[in-house]
Amino acid sequence: MARVMVIFGGRSGEHEVSLASARAVMEALESGGRHEVLPVGITREGRWLLSGDPMRALTDGNAGPGGELSSAVGSSLPGTLGPADVVFPVMHGPYGEDGKMQGLLEMAGIPYVGSGVLGSAVGMDKVTMKKVFAHHGLPQVRWRGLVRRDWEQDREAVIRAVESEPGYPCFVKPSNLGSSVGINRADDEEGLAAALDEAFRYDRRVIVEQFVDAREVEVSVLGNDHPEVSLPGEVVLSGGAFYDYEAKYGEGGMRLVVPAEIPEEAAGEIERIAREAFTAVDAAGMSRIDFFLERSTGKLFLNEINTIPGFTATSVYAKLWEASGLPYPDLLDRLISLALERHAENG
Ligand code: ADP
Ligand code: MG
Ligand code: MG
Repeated sequence: MARVMVIFGGRSGEHEVSLASARAVMEALESGGRHEVLPVGITREGRWLLSGDPMRALTDGNAGPGGELSSAVGSSLPGTLGPADVVFPVMHGPYGEDGKMQGLLEMAGIPYVGSGVLGSAVGMDKVTMKKVFAHHGLPQVRWRGLVRRDWEQDREAVIRAVESEPGYPCFVKPSNLGSSVGINRADDEEGLAAALDEAFRYDRRVIVEQFVDAREVEVSVLGNDHPEVSLPGEVVLSGGAFYDYEAKYGEGGMRLVVPAEIPEEAAGEIERIAREAFTAVDAAGMSRIDFFLERSTGKLFLNEINTIPGFTATSVYAKLWEASGLPYPDLLDRLISLALERHAENG
């Protein structure tokens, strides 16, 4: 039995997704009196809701006055977080998954679920993540990183650069985001310009990748220095061009096939690469690691790591563990233990 502070919402395009994950986490933590939950909500504007029923306030959209973090906790952040034994930041995207929250929790000296500052930040920024993976020789599609200032100053030059490498068709993504927000495929100059305009609305940094026509296979990873890898699952889309926001969260947008029906050799490679990728970015606790298996060639590419994956009981992360013999409530217990272990080691 632990007192678990669950933090949700936040200043992110994935605010809603966070609320859904946090509802499921809180319900499972409290079921059968396993743990005590201390809910903390953060509004889209970044105000912290430290009392009352913050989930209700965020769901109903009447968060009331709340407080800036600074005024809410004054000079004593540890005091505010003090009643908790461990924090579970159930937040996706910037200001939750990218190391900023983790830094705050480090400063407060309190154990928390998931990756630390470095693993979170590297895992969140696709450009940096790809550089680290490349250093470890992990297979990836061709890509190019861009910054907003260059796009504002000379659109023509940026377009020519992308056309030379990686070329069309390509995928354009904000570097720091998730849930497919701001992601578009581009097949020609006009499409590329529109995709870059949109991606740069979300982020100063953008990544453009070579398009691959591929099956999408994902694994869940759990642990600290010697992580375990779940069975692989294949995400099969019901329609739509790619695994976009609607397919991820809409009713019936996708089907998860576990275990993925892929060659044994590919499954072995996926397990090995997932473990290496997790360690390469210095992830901890949990991550979902996503792959592309090219249809025409059977070639495997590492797509990305998600250090705080969608976390409802029916999210891919939890379903893969369930199929691997670890039910959702036990998964939460393991994550809490891993957080406490990591804190004790670092302390
Ligand atoms: P996010 O972090 O938002 O999930 P991803 O990089 O996983 O971003 O991209 C979201 C989805 O877009 C993928 O699951 C896949 O369907 C599609 N996609 C991304 N990159 C490529 C690519 N290079 N080629 C083909 N499809 C891609
Ligand atoms: Mg992602
Ligand atoms: Mg993804």
